[in-house]
Amino acid sequence: MTARWTHGRSARHDGAVCGADDGPSPRITDEPHLVTCPDCPDAAENETIPDDAATGDPHIITTLREAKAGHTRKIDGVVVDATTANAILTVYDAATPKTRAKIAGLPLTVMVSLAWNLLRADAEGDPR
Ligand SMILES: [Zn+2]
Repeated sequence: MTARWTHGRSARHDGAVCGADDGPSPRITDEPHLVTCPDCPDAAENETIPDDAATGDPHIITTLREAKAGHTRKIDGVVVDATTANAILTVYDAATPKTRAKIAGLPLTVMVSLAWNLLRADAEGDPR
């Protein structure tokens, strides 16, 4: 039997604040003292941090450089860790100015998968 946590309700999206998916009916409460999930308090705290940048912001790359340097930066509602920021910036910095402009305009989730796909292909010696 797996433990069933009671999660806090997200203010930003439908479901648990920590993003857990316990199946068809996750237990979610609006009462903070009823939350038993160990991840929800941190997630709720993160949720109160305002975004530092959003998709299409001209300063999104600057924000990623700050995240890479170890600062807590939030883009599109997601806290970006230094490793992820570094992956995006590695691809960004290697790109042509035209491609850079395209990358900078992408939603964060697309930037991240693009970066990891390119870096993985590079590591595997994909002759592209
Ligand atoms: Zn939770």
